[in-house]
Amino acid sequence: MGVHRCRKCTAQSVINMPQHRLALCGEHFVEWVEKSTLEFIEKHRMFEPGERVLVAVSGGKDSLSLWRILSKLGYAADGLYIDLGIDDGCGYSKRSGDYVRKFAQTLPAGARLHVVDLSVAYGKAVPEMAGRRAGGKKRLCSVCGLVKRHEMNRAARELGYPVIATGHNLDDEAAVLLGNTLRWEVEYLVRQAPVLPAGDPGLVKRAKPLARFYERETAAYAIVSDIAYIEDECPFSKGATSLRLKETLNSMESGSPGTKLHFYYSFLRARKKGLFPGVERSELQTCEKCGEATGIPGLCAFCRLTVE
Ligand code: SF4
Ligand SMILES: [Zn+2]
Ligand SMILES: [Zn+2]
Repeated sequence: MGVHRCRKCTAQSVINMPQHRLALCGEHFVEWVEKSTLEFIEKHRMFEPGERVLVAVSGGKDSLSLWRILSKLGYAADGLYIDLGIDDGCGYSKRSGDYVRKFAQTLPAGARLHVVDLSVAYGKAVPEMAGRRAGGKKRLCSVCGLVKRHEMNRAARELGYPVIATGHNLDDEAAVLLGNTLRWEVEYLVRQAPVLPAGDPGLVKRAKPLARFYERETAAYAIVSDIAYIEDECPFSKGATSLRLKETLNSMESGSPGTKLHFYYSFLRARKKGLFPGVERSELQTCEKCGEATGIPGLCAFCRLTVE
């Protein structure tokens, strides 16, 4: 924000992006984000015009911006909100859901919002599924991640969407990449990509159309576009490893603009050339109860959590 002038029209800029050597005014920034998203979708063959896309929305800036952008670009994008049942005294999930429902009304008629309330569908939400056993927040977040992946895929399959889009931004992707690199998690590394093709058995294609934008760019897009979103983070995100990784990357970025972008893009290029040949995903099976893909025979990890 500040003294820079828009490169396109010389009006005062709303954002300066040193990593792109680009400053833009509100109007031209919105135009740039939408055009860049379209190019990224086409480059990675995420989805075609007319194909139905299920956007996983959390009520935060990234996912709501993504839904707005896809809708403006003319894609048939519907939303999916999973009510995780996170309260912790601040009503986090309930408030997030309210933002999503209000936002959905700002989209052109025809855009649909699907809601899965875990407490209604399974009789318990994420905190109860994670239990009060040892592991604390870490276990809660790993259960939460598993539940979100399971429910996104199940909903897309049952509702007939060929692709799921999530709002992950470059800061998210670079932090995951750094974490996996620090532990050399090669099986995760080979599967980290802006688009994951559909797979057997019943894995729906997944795409991250905003993976090329810095978090401050998606935040600026939401603000300039008047998108009302939940600004609070999930109460359980405090102290999470992913936040520490993001802080590390941000301090490197401030000394050397473009660090995050180069880290991620160089990785994508190496991956394309066949980084870690011979690393393959373990054979997947079908869960006996829900029919979702699982690495273990019998019940999938989600069904194990929800049966008792
Ligand atoms: S921080 Fe909150 S929303 Fe994120 S994985 Fe953990 S519990 Fe789920
Ligand atoms: Zn301008
Ligand atoms: Zn299952």
